Amino acid sequence: MTSSIPDDYWKAIVENDSAYDNTFYYAVKTTGIFCRPSCKSKVPNKENVRIFKNADLAQSESFRPCKRCKPNGLDLPDEEWIQALTEWIDKNYSESLTLDTLAEVIHGSPYHLQRTFKRIKGMSPTEYIQHVRIAKAAHCLEITDETVTNIGSAIGYPNTAYFVTLFKRYMKQTPADYRKTQGRLKEDGSDGKKK
Ligand SMILES: [Zn+2]
Repeated sequence: MTSSIPDDYWKAIVENDSAYDNTFYYAVKTTGIFCRPSCKSKVPNKENVRIFKNADLAQSESFRPCKRCKPNGLDLPDEEWIQALTEWIDKNYSESLTLDTLAEVIHGSPYHLQRTFKRIKGMSPTEYIQHVRIAKAAHCLEITDETVTNIGSAIGYPNTAYFVTLFKRYMKQTPADYRKTQGRLKEDGSDGKKK
């Protein structure tokens, strides 16, 4: 899409130029977080960036202040910070995700993220990702006739054996058995006709 970011603004974002800190803020659509130009966070994709003249405007469009650079001195409560991350994971669960990736996305240190996430959600980010993926896989098994291998790959587990093991740990049965007992594509008809 068309990006209306002035060249000098973009340069300030890329170079973390603090000279622009009171001139504008930038928000990243994919994460819902906004930053000062000087923020040390990873440079976002340009097409996902929106520029705001001040922090109030960014907040009025539901963007959350970055926990690292605290735009306008705003401090994001931990609960909201973790909420932003779970929302992001819910959309991006199928990507290859590490703690470092998540920390980058949500603008914090991996160590702090791990501790805060666990305190608020009662599980680690990795466990949360597994939950999301297995729930998605279960849903796919119920409503599609995709193979177990394809479903595993689609949710982020290209290693089928690993996917099956993990699925079993959460659901107490294999994907194939789960499909037999829960699936809507059961072949009821053939057996029933024998009578
Ligand atoms: Zn920031």
